[in-house]
Amino acid sequence: MERVVEVEKIAFDSAEDASLRPSEWDGYIGQSAIKSNLRVFIDAAKKRKEPIDHLLFFGPPGLGKTTLAYLIAREMGANIKTTAGPMIEKSGDLAAILTNLGENDILFIDEIHRLSHAIEEVLYPAMEDYRLDIIIGSGPAAQTVKIDLPRFTLIGATTRAGMISNPLRDRFGAHFRMQFYNPSELAQIADRAANKLGKPIKKDAADEIARRARGTPRIALRLLRRVRDYAEVEGETAISRDRAYAALDALGVNEYGFDALDLKLLGLLVEARGRAIGLNTLGAALSEDGATIEEVIEPYLLANGYLERTARGRIATIKSYEALKLSPPSVSNQAKLF
Ligand code: ADP
Repeated sequence: MERVVEVEKIAFDSAEDASLRPSEWDGYIGQSAIKSNLRVFIDAAKKRKEPIDHLLFFGPPGLGKTTLAYLIAREMGANIKTTAGPMIEKSGDLAAILTNLGENDILFIDEIHRLSHAIEEVLYPAMEDYRLDIIIGSGPAAQTVKIDLPRFTLIGATTRAGMISNPLRDRFGAHFRMQFYNPSELAQIADRAANKLGKPIKKDAADEIARRARGTPRIALRLLRRVRDYAEVEGETAISRDRAYAALDALGVNEYGFDALDLKLLGLLVEARGRAIGLNTLGAALSEDGATIEEVIEPYLLANGYLERTARGRIATIKSYEALKLSPPSVSNQAKLF
């Protein structure tokens, strides 16, 4: 079954998603530290009439990495081309993308940690010297042909900071770690999007969506669209809090933004009463692969203290017992835990 709170690692926007993307720098809510740093980079690069330095964004899916890349392109007056690590299978694929870039263009590569080593090697001279080294033939007769590339900017995005190789990471001029959004930022995002959808939302209804959106704009927007459907069916002109409340409950998203899968995961940890559970065991119990648990389900739970990662595995925290409305283990067991 599709999870309403799941964010795919690589999402392809529907036309409606694309229409909800903020098209103006000021429409991008939150991430203020990142935005102010970028503002300096953008203004300095424009002054020098140079492309902006290569940039790398880390963070869970749905936090606005792609949107930011589009806004940087807009601010720089540059064209942007987007692709994703798993879509570049051969070095020739990357060579074709690079040779088709124009001066000052931006190339956005999502899930950049999924590039193979051989393909990364093609990127290094391209990033450093705007040069493509192509090897023609093989054995002693092999020749390297050097092709000059236009000066471009690479923007990489990844959900797995630890999986980027050091040589690739070092070639980016700046790294940014995206933060989860607070409820007031998410409520603003929901409010703007509701107006764009032509279905205004009352403040307390936007707040309710924000509370359940797991710090993630993409989830807030998805919940909004579902709630909007309920409001439409009921003929409501502006989405009310009661409608939002009832619709979100019907969608199986509880007041913490947890759905059945999160509750099952937390339930397993809580049942272990303080023992750690390894990733593989959790994966088997939830019928999910370890990478999905690590990249999609866990980041929000971890960032908000609902579970802890230890060398031995995952452990429930006091907050996870509270979220499941259970009492934590006795103090002596807790001492072993924390
Ligand atoms: P990522 O690339 O990190 O997976 P996206 O850039 O695709 O995330 O963002 C998901 C959706 O959330 C976008 O369609 C965009 O409309 C919305 N969004 C993300 N960040 C913001 C923000 N800071 N302000 C407003 N909308 C946002």
